[in-house]
Amino acid sequence: MENVNKKAVSSYFGALTFDQKAMLKKLPKEVYQALQKTIKTGNKLSVEIAGAVAHGMKEWAMENGATHYTHWFQPMTGATAEKHDAFLSIDRDGTAIERFSGGQLIQGEPDASSFPSGGMRTTFEARGYTAWDPSSPAFLMKGGKGYTLCVPTVFISYHGEALDEKTPLLRSMDAVSKSAIRLLGILGVDNVSRVNTYAGAEQEYFLVDRKFYSMRPDLIMSGRTLLGAMPPKGQQLEDHYFGSIPNRVLEFMQEVEEELYLLGIPAKTRHNEVAPHQFELAPIFERANIAADHNLLVMEVMRRVADRKGFALLMHEKPFAGINGSGKHNNWSIGTAEGMNLLEPGDTPESNIQFLVFLAAVLKGVFKRSAVLRASIASIGNDHRLGANEAPPAVVTVFLGELLEKVLDAIEAGKVDFATEKQVLNLGLAHLPILNKDYTDRNRTSPFAFTGNKFEFRAVGSSQPISVPNMVLNTLMAEAMDELANEIQEKIDGGVEKDAAILEVLRAEITATKPVRYQGDNYSENLQEAAANRSLPNLKNTPQALRSLLEVDTREMFSRYGVLSDQELTSRLNTRLERYVKGIDIEARTLQLMLKTFVIPDVSEYQGELASSYNALVEASSRIGVSDKALKSQGAHLKELAENLSDLLDLTAELDVVIAKLGSVGEEFEAADFCAEVVLPSMDKVRAVADHLELMVDRSKWELPTYSEMLFEH
Ligand code: ADP
Ligand code: MG
Repeated sequence: MENVNKKAVSSYFGALTFDQKAMLKKLPKEVYQALQKTIKTGNKLSVEIAGAVAHGMKEWAMENGATHYTHWFQPMTGATAEKHDAFLSIDRDGTAIERFSGGQLIQGEPDASSFPSGGMRTTFEARGYTAWDPSSPAFLMKGGKGYTLCVPTVFISYHGEALDEKTPLLRSMDAVSKSAIRLLGILGVDNVSRVNTYAGAEQEYFLVDRKFYSMRPDLIMSGRTLLGAMPPKGQQLEDHYFGSIPNRVLEFMQEVEEELYLLGIPAKTRHNEVAPHQFELAPIFERANIAADHNLLVMEVMRRVADRKGFALLMHEKPFAGINGSGKHNNWSIGTAEGMNLLEPGDTPESNIQFLVFLAAVLKGVFKRSAVLRASIASIGNDHRLGANEAPPAVVTVFLGELLEKVLDAIEAGKVDFATEKQVLNLGLAHLPILNKDYTDRNRTSPFAFTGNKFEFRAVGSSQPISVPNMVLNTLMAEAMDELANEIQEKIDGGVEKDAAILEVLRAEITATKPVRYQGDNYSENLQEAAANRSLPNLKNTPQALRSLLEVDTREMFSRYGVLSDQELTSRLNTRLERYVKGIDIEARTLQLMLKTFVIPDVSEYQGELASSYNALVEASSRIGVSDKALKSQGAHLKELAENLSDLLDLTAELDVVIAKLGSVGEEFEAADFCAEVVLPSMDKVRAVADHLELMVDRSKWELPTYSEMLFEH
């Protein structure tokens, strides 16, 4: 695989995946066909077929230099997990041989007790199983000196509960398919075998030189700077966005892309982002479950290549205070397996009515479940972004653009009777196809914006796997489509003609969901007012957002659509709360350590030197003429320094008390609220003083790398 960059990408795309091409080469025809059928229908593989697939996969992996295999899965840690086993086996007569059985391919048993379960199982029944998900191709992961065969799996408990993020996502895709096929049937489209959702995750990130990173305990421990004064040049010049990419960074991107292409991941776009040293990678969209796997691989590959290139990769949502943070725009659409995008306006009245029905379903779902959608992206890091003037806010609204707004308003107003309504629709919608190509009508401040034939969920955090937000989107969509189908069916059963029934329901839904449509600037105060006036949830931090998962109605939705049982939902809630509290505890302790081992000693030392030079000056002034001005200004500087240092010591002591209290403040929500309301503000207060001192202390005395260095030195 050396020097692949000299070849056309298409010639090696997916070369490290066990894709159709590799399968055809390595599997007997009947085995290949049986496997394809399993992938399509989701049915179980027979033991014989599994054995034959495993054999072919092993041969292929070994030819490419792999010695080990691992089940690759997504526990509720926000990352992926793997445990490597060698193919090596020793025969009875002592000969070494490589083996990989069907059983090893389709099922594994990692020690589940080491992964979070949110209280779902007790340790005495800590067994968990990984099971192969044939819909996602096996791949070879480069690392160390060779390759490891990775088998994408789900992770479930002995009793069948999902212990991972992938199982619920797959279940939500099934729910979407079922509801959508039913709704399409009512609309008169009935040759659809499967409906999928699709996702394209635009990944933002920062690169910082490794030598600075390794001197910042805060970046190492928490992924963000807990201290650091703003540099004189921030991003106010806006000269970074789409600017030319520095050469060292470009090399990083090229190496990342090369590895991604080998893994069959269609990286498409690369560019600078708004903040200095911030960049973005966007892939071509794929089926949502594959896109979720691929986004995790993108993050992993980037991390590894960054290491190799002497960079540290920062995926935190807000690594630098006062500088734009990083998000992950989750582009989302729904379409048939046959290739019809249900969110794409067409050029016939019928296809446009179909488009409007699915659009209404999105509005309905997002309106009804906006709190859950908000909860799906709530995290310790994302709290710093949402609600600030740079990222979509904590209020979830939908942006549709001027043209669509007009069409919906016309339907709502119902100025015409039904006889001519179709005509009106036809007229209004005649312009819709251009939505697709029209990129001018954009609102970059909206958390959930329609962009031609898909929605862009922009509030997702850069470090978050996209499985959870997509699982929630799919579920709320499944519910909304189902409800629309019920409403239309009811009218038809009551004797209303089909087209009339559809239009009546459309009108009712467009009117009912109006509060969730917001076309203004989401960063402005007006939105906060609008949220209050329209009673839209405005959940400002993670514990507030997570509370929505306690609601009975929310829980019923997830269980009704077979996505998450009550217990599975509780376990996710517990895990998220625990991660939030532990994360803030780590941040607070890291800050405490940095104050005591860097900031306070540095300031004290500088103060000592300054004081002795000042004293020398005072002494000299009695013998020789020293300018009054020099004496005064040094005296004032010393005084300000002493005052700030004294404040810093007080606030550090306050932080000590707060940290000690966190250990005993109670469980779950109580502890999480304490973090949001007491710990974080206490950290901010002491930070403000420390940052002020940074600007007063001689650079040679300040040991921590500064914002200027981290953001502007490549
Ligand atoms: P932007 O809208 O951010 O300027 P693009 O329109 O080029 O950029 O696409 C952004 C992302 O949306 C890409 O990852 C792209 O593959 C994805 N995308 C495009 N069409 C769809 C679709 N129908 N469903 C889901 N994602 C899509
Ligand atoms: Mg975008």
